[in-house]
Amino acid sequence: MISGVLKKVFGSKNERELKRLTPIVQQINALEQETQALSDDQLRAKTKTFKERIDQGASLDELLPEAYAVVREASVRTLKMRHFDVQLIGGIVLHQGKIAEMKTGEGKTLAATLPAYLNALTGRGVHVVTVNDYLAGRDTEWMGSIYRFLGLSVATVVHGLDDSQRQEAYNADITYGTNNEFGFDYLRDNMKFGLESLVQRELHYAIVDEVDSILIDEARTPLIISGPVEHAGDKIYEEVKPQVIKLKQHQDRIIRSMLDNAVKGLEEEGDTDGVLELLLKVKRGDPKNARFLDLIAKETGFKKQLDKLEGQLSTDKLLPQIDQDLLCTVDENQNLVELTEKGLKLIYGGHVDDYIVPDLDEELQKIDENDQLTSMEKRTQRRMAEAFYREASERFHVTRQLIKAYWLFDRDVQYVVKDGQVVIVDEFTGRMMPGRRWSDGLHQAVEAKEGVTVAEENQTLATITFQNYFRMYDKLAGMTGTADTEAPEFKKIYDLDVIAIPTNEQMIRIDYPDVIYKTEVEKFKAVVEEIEELHKNGQPVLVGTISIEKSEKLSRMLSKTRTNHEVLNAKNHEREAEIVAMAGQKGNVTISTNMAGRGTDIVLGEGVKELGGLHILGTERHESRRIDDQLRGRSGRQGDEGSSRFYLSMEDDLLRIFGGERMGSIMARLGMEEGEPIEHGMISKAIENAQRKVEGHNFEIRKQLLKYDDVMNQQREVIYKQRREALSGESLKPDIEEMIRELSETIADRFADEKVLPEEWDWKGLREAASFQFGFHFKIDRATMDGLTRDGLAESIFEFAVKVYEEKEASFGAEEFRGLERMIVLQVVDNLWKENLLAMDHLKEGIGLRGYAQQDPLVVYKREGFAMFTEMVERIKEETVKFLFRVQIARPEEIAAREKAEQDKLVFSHGGEEAKQPVRRSTKKVGRNQPCPCGSGKKYKKCCGK
Ligand code: ADP
Ligand code: MG
Repeated sequence: MISGVLKKVFGSKNERELKRLTPIVQQINALEQETQALSDDQLRAKTKTFKERIDQGASLDELLPEAYAVVREASVRTLKMRHFDVQLIGGIVLHQGKIAEMKTGEGKTLAATLPAYLNALTGRGVHVVTVNDYLAGRDTEWMGSIYRFLGLSVATVVHGLDDSQRQEAYNADITYGTNNEFGFDYLRDNMKFGLESLVQRELHYAIVDEVDSILIDEARTPLIISGPVEHAGDKIYEEVKPQVIKLKQHQDRIIRSMLDNAVKGLEEEGDTDGVLELLLKVKRGDPKNARFLDLIAKETGFKKQLDKLEGQLSTDKLLPQIDQDLLCTVDENQNLVELTEKGLKLIYGGHVDDYIVPDLDEELQKIDENDQLTSMEKRTQRRMAEAFYREASERFHVTRQLIKAYWLFDRDVQYVVKDGQVVIVDEFTGRMMPGRRWSDGLHQAVEAKEGVTVAEENQTLATITFQNYFRMYDKLAGMTGTADTEAPEFKKIYDLDVIAIPTNEQMIRIDYPDVIYKTEVEKFKAVVEEIEELHKNGQPVLVGTISIEKSEKLSRMLSKTRTNHEVLNAKNHEREAEIVAMAGQKGNVTISTNMAGRGTDIVLGEGVKELGGLHILGTERHESRRIDDQLRGRSGRQGDEGSSRFYLSMEDDLLRIFGGERMGSIMARLGMEEGEPIEHGMISKAIENAQRKVEGHNFEIRKQLLKYDDVMNQQREVIYKQRREALSGESLKPDIEEMIRELSETIADRFADEKVLPEEWDWKGLREAASFQFGFHFKIDRATMDGLTRDGLAESIFEFAVKVYEEKEASFGAEEFRGLERMIVLQVVDNLWKENLLAMDHLKEGIGLRGYAQQDPLVVYKREGFAMFTEMVERIKEETVKFLFRVQIARPEEIAAREKAEQDKLVFSHGGEEAKQPVRRSTKKVGRNQPCPCGSGKKYKKCCGK
């Protein structure tokens, strides 16, 4: 209450922020007349003057009013659009590195030209991030007129450009592109072998359009670049599949009898606890079981009690007891599967031990501490242990993915099978995504399940979350119509404030309350009737659905009643934009998935205003209220007439999975009749709660992802820094000498036991170790040996090694040798980093299992991840020196060929999606058994094709 009063007295924080910007807007407006008086050339010359003033120390804030007045005038002359005052405010907020919430149709594209121009004056580059390639291209062209008029360069990075085109695009003052392009270019740059082939400049300032979509919705999954795995057989899926089918059949049988017993228990009444326990088992073993869903739909009290029981048991750590009768458990919300002990036994025919992934650390330690082994034997055994570990974890991984494929992925819902291919159906837009693949072996698992050809598996070569990518910019800003609800997340994760900017014209759209039907069939019947009614009157209607399946269903129903309509399931954004743009014309019915066509303006056609403007009809509520608001926001732009309403049914996923008990009891209380909708404030509240629950859950997932990526981020920073240093052209000689010194010390530590005379030391072992590390035969004369200390030995080895090293250098020529060093460092770093990424993946996966041991998985991940990383850093030294003392020189053109060959194999994926080769293939594909193009003389698969 009090805060309400205070708000009235002092104004909300948002209002205060806005008020503070008013004088700046007045300043810009005051400059308008004199700016108008300038000739085109004079206006253009302003750019040069501003740049000079920056050179002389002027700050961007000082220049802002003049610069904004100049951009506004340039826009009037080129695009015939004069930035509204609210757009100036938006532009200032963006410059301040905040999020400007501006409703759909307020002209965010134009508002962004102000800060883009101002910040580009520094010459450090500005990135404007869009949700798709089509918009990146459109906005470059559209807004480009302003920038070009003012003498700045502008370009687009899109799918399909080669490196030199990308370099050119990034060298422009202002670069438009999608989040995926920017992120992948960053990762790719950190896989390059020459400074000259880097495409990005520094990450200076980014303006992210539709910022909620990019930094929240898409941030749930990281960007991943992957390449083929050498060892993983695709056969492994085929091998494990029969076992998983067996598992499924057994579990189905178990579930069936549990359900029978539950039904029996219900009829006899009395033993509610027993029934509940049975149902919970069913829920954990097969959450999508139709009979089970029916049962709890009928008995409304059950769902709540089940959730409560599950929560209780989970807190008490008693769930394993519930699960022990099952073979595996499946968590629909978290997309997780877990094998129980029984399941493990079934799959591995009783030989559980063979299957259990060994604790590698422990094994390695055992080997190290075994005095019976020579260092060579230790090394061999270590390699064997690692190979065994790899194989076991791979098998385990494949099994889990297959279980997911069988339990959680349904044909014609998450994917379709078309021409012998498993094609993903996009969760947000419902569109088919040919060519995209689920990562991490899931796609292969679904392929195996469907009996189509299983494609080669890939492993991660580079990965980053959007959170960590965008946090690298010196300054970050964003804009969208819907940010306010997500303000806490923007603040916490990105340190971005949200400022809500008033609309230019008052919003007059009418939002009707939701109506709810008991069944989906009734709902769609009502929807069709409503559409026909609107259509008859000529009022355009945009129908939002949450999946393509629903779009098509509705389309079929409308066709039966001969209602003309467009269905938006075009495969490209351009066509999509075209259809959406027409949605405001008289009599048009457009069916679209909620997210489709974002960024395209719907202008009302002739005579539509009188009919009430564009009507938005939602056929289901999305998990996220923000997405619903986006759909609504398509109508009522710039003070247009408009209206909106959502139709729901009790069978919708949102209500079914997250609605909770409350919803059911409200419905029961209100007395729901067949075919009769309900419209009630309490229901709207309950739905809002359900949405909040899901959003909270999704935020958790993103936070969790980020926590894990933060561990990786520290490692990534170290490695990428090391790579950049290697690339920078500085001599690596001091670093190499340092490595040689450390390695000499290591050997001395191992063999110089000062408690015994030097004669007694294990000289054979020492020479073996030196030969292994440096590839030379270490010799020492008797005289030196007498009275030798540990330090003396280290020094001798070091001197010996440095001598060999310098001879090598001399034989190659110093300059060439520096290049060789650089290449070897890069290659060693890349190879070990790649191994480390794989190991980290496995670690993360394996940690889920240790949850039972009551350890915090994140702590374990951090600790072991750090141990692995330290080990890797040591190995980088070892391997670099080892190679350097052995390997023959490679010429620059061979390096280039090698780099190409590497790039051609890459797969770029984001979340469920993968896209092959955004870079054009410029060399012919090399057969695995053909000679390697790098000229090593080895087969490709044994060399660069590794
Ligand atoms: P948003 O991204 O905020 O939804 P857009 O940038 O797509 O909006 O712009 C919506 C429409 O408004 C476009 O057709 C654009 O031409 C128009 N528009 C934007 N700003 C102005 C302006 N200052 N004067 C006239 N029309 C404008
Ligand atoms: Mg836009």
